[in-house]
Amino acid sequence: MTSRTKTYNTVVFNFFKTIAESFRPHWTASSVPEIDCARLIACGIRGVMLDLDNTLAPWRSPAIFPGVAEWIACAKGHGLRACILTNASNANRVRPIADHLDIPWVTRALKPLAGGYRRGMALLSTVPESTVMIGDMVLTDIIGANRLGLFTMLVEPKSTREALPARLVQRPLERLIGREARW
Ligand SMILES: [Mg+2]
Repeated sequence: MTSRTKTYNTVVFNFFKTIAESFRPHWTASSVPEIDCARLIACGIRGVMLDLDNTLAPWRSPAIFPGVAEWIACAKGHGLRACILTNASNANRVRPIADHLDIPWVTRALKPLAGGYRRGMALLSTVPESTVMIGDMVLTDIIGANRLGLFTMLVEPKSTREALPARLVQRPLERLIGREARW
């Protein structure tokens, strides 16, 4: 193998390694209420950004999952600041949930683009190194946050009901990528 071929192989390997790493969450949890707030604090985290659909509440539902309100209260008790970061555009649905949890919120976040995460961190007065993004979808919640240098936590989607593009495209793609990334 020539040195030129070796260089090419290294570049290609590093390229795919970087992509695989951007898919991989730092942590996983079965659900939000299972997350250990004390551990987040011990890791230097001060701000928590939470996806809405299938993370805090069923898709399009105004009701949150059991245990979520108690977990938010526990997080606040540990000194964590929290906000909702969702791609959903219906503020009339998001506002009552956020008000109930007494946390700020960002709609139309356009995850995985960077702007929404930055708006969330501005609300929390945190930086990427002290912020964790918690969500159920790798291709939106996790990839964008990883690229910005946030901590990331993938939770299991709590319902199979979700938007058609998510069911038909994103979830099958995630299953495919997931096998390669081995998270
Ligand atoms: Mg979601």
